[in-house]
Amino acid sequence: MKDDIPNSPEARDAHNLMHPYTNARKLQSDGPLVIESGEGIYVTDIHGNRYIEAMSGLWSAGLGFSEKRLVAAATKQLEVLPFYHVFSQRSHGPAIDLAEKLVNLAPVPMSKAFFTNSGSEANDTAVKMLWYRAHAMGTPEKKKIISRLRGYHGVTVAAASMTGLPYNHMSFGLPLPGFLHTGSPHYWRDAEPDESEADFVARRARELEELILAEGPETIAAFIGEPVLGGGGVVVPPKGYWQAIQAVLDKYDILLIADEVICGFGRTGNMFGTETFGMKPDMMTLSKQITSSYQPFSALLVNDRVFEPIADESNRIGTFGHGYTGGGHPVGAAVALETLRIIEEDNLLDHVRRVGAHMQAGLAELADHPLVGEHRGVGLIAALELVTDKATKAPHGKPGALGGIASARMQAHGVISRNMTDALAFCPPMIVTEAEVDEILARTKLALDETAEEIGA
Ligand code: PMP
Repeated sequence: MKDDIPNSPEARDAHNLMHPYTNARKLQSDGPLVIESGEGIYVTDIHGNRYIEAMSGLWSAGLGFSEKRLVAAATKQLEVLPFYHVFSQRSHGPAIDLAEKLVNLAPVPMSKAFFTNSGSEANDTAVKMLWYRAHAMGTPEKKKIISRLRGYHGVTVAAASMTGLPYNHMSFGLPLPGFLHTGSPHYWRDAEPDESEADFVARRARELEELILAEGPETIAAFIGEPVLGGGGVVVPPKGYWQAIQAVLDKYDILLIADEVICGFGRTGNMFGTETFGMKPDMMTLSKQITSSYQPFSALLVNDRVFEPIADESNRIGTFGHGYTGGGHPVGAAVALETLRIIEEDNLLDHVRRVGAHMQAGLAELADHPLVGEHRGVGLIAALELVTDKATKAPHGKPGALGGIASARMQAHGVISRNMTDALAFCPPMIVTEAEVDEILARTKLALDETAEEIGA
């Protein structure tokens, strides 16, 4: 580490800051990468090294790192009303305007918006609303939630239970009882030999139905899924997947929650992933790009099937006893409104479709590289899955080793990507240009060549 430099930011960081999603001992020895400033799709570290942020931070800074209109919106709101809340029949203009905007934007009929601060909180809120609704409807046993292996829904207790990734359960004693997992829609990795895509989809629907019947349909409240799985490795579902899942849910009166935390606000080339895949959710959780992550903010949209029983129950017992101090924060809401205005005014959805097609075509070419097993993606989100043997899809040594080498090589070439095990993810700010995409692709190719050389492939 650079703690040979007394009082370096790296040394002070390691001394005082505990990081999320980090090997704490490795941080103590290696120190962090300390970012100082951002401009467009670039960020610059404290030593002056400039990187293309090909992950938009955490799939989140959709408008890049220097959108002055968002700064102006935040500043203006800070001057007028820096904080107020929406508890107990209080409200404020930005929350009202944003709730109306989101309800109107929703691609399926939605009734109300509820505001939270993070994707995890939005998903925990969805669960608690469903539990409350179960009591409201006189079916208190209807509380179980089904999610998918490889799904990512956050880290609070219910959200982590719904997440289907080992690191979110291991050593925490999670998932909690009542959180069930079914198979992921990852055809390339999870299909049986010679199984067609259609047969794979039918099998996933059948497995879901079997799980529901084994547990008792009357005990299951909802199914949650990301339109495209993000943290689980950018998995785009096969054709007809959501329709097949939806049919099973409808048959047993099980609600659908679309976790739009990554897909929402343009990432897949439509405003919501729900539209891209023809989903019909009863609840949608939104965060990240809603403010381009300039402010922590999240929201949950619910339809009347969810809202009406909850409203009755709150009237019966006196209140809906749930909410966060910062939920609907006026500064966050003002920044969200400005973000949505910019996405519309600047025709960013058209831009994402055009530049996204260019990025996917370039990545598809890279799929010919000896280390690339699969390219997958839609809009401006994609992954290259790295393997050492394309036929057996075998990883190099421990799963994640190859991805780790490649993403470190990319960083050395000034591109911040992220490997989810051996899937190298691409999720650049939605303002990225075709020329910038070409730069990302060229540096990725270089990193892949070096990775192959390093492992002697
Ligand atoms: N859902 C999805 C799909 C996510 O990708 C994430 C974060 N990566 C979350 C939920 C959790 O959001 P947060 O980190 O803001 O709690």
